[in-house]
Amino acid sequence: MGDLDHLFEQIAAGEIPSYKIYEDDLVYVFLDINPGSRGHTLVIPKVRAEFVHEMPEETAAAIGRILPRIAHAIMQAVDADAYNILNNNGATAGQVVPHVHFHIIPRFINEPKEQAGMSFTWSPGTLSEHDAKELQTAIVAELH
Ligand code: AMP
Repeated sequence: MGDLDHLFEQIAAGEIPSYKIYEDDLVYVFLDINPGSRGHTLVIPKVRAEFVHEMPEETAAAIGRILPRIAHAIMQAVDADAYNILNNNGATAGQVVPHVHFHIIPRFINEPKEQAGMSFTWSPGTLSEHDAKELQTAIVAELH
């Protein structure tokens, strides 16, 4: 993974060029270089964290605060009808760059064929009462 390891840290530090949209003390926002649609933008923490759960709370809050403003600006700028916010955590989940990033991917009613239907789907399973209770107990116990 070599170069990708520190790519987004270097972008946030201005050491590698990017099309910057926004930055503050904790967050950096820039255009995705291989966009899934026109206006595809990435929102990242400046501090290195691979997974969302590894981010300092203040950094996570800063990302949460800015996401709506960035999404609104993108919608206005490209006249989008909708957008997906996508965040992969870990290679198994499809993460390629191991630094937290939220994709904002504008969507259009009449989007090109190659983009239409882009979505994250799964075969819905069932949740038994037994498993639900076990999961509820296990997850709540890990909340601290
Ligand atoms: P993911 O697959 O969720 O890890 O997404 C990584 C994203 O980073 C992809 O959408 C890439 O197009 C994007 N990307 C990789 N290198 C750069 C770069 N130098 N500048 C902007 N976006 C990049």
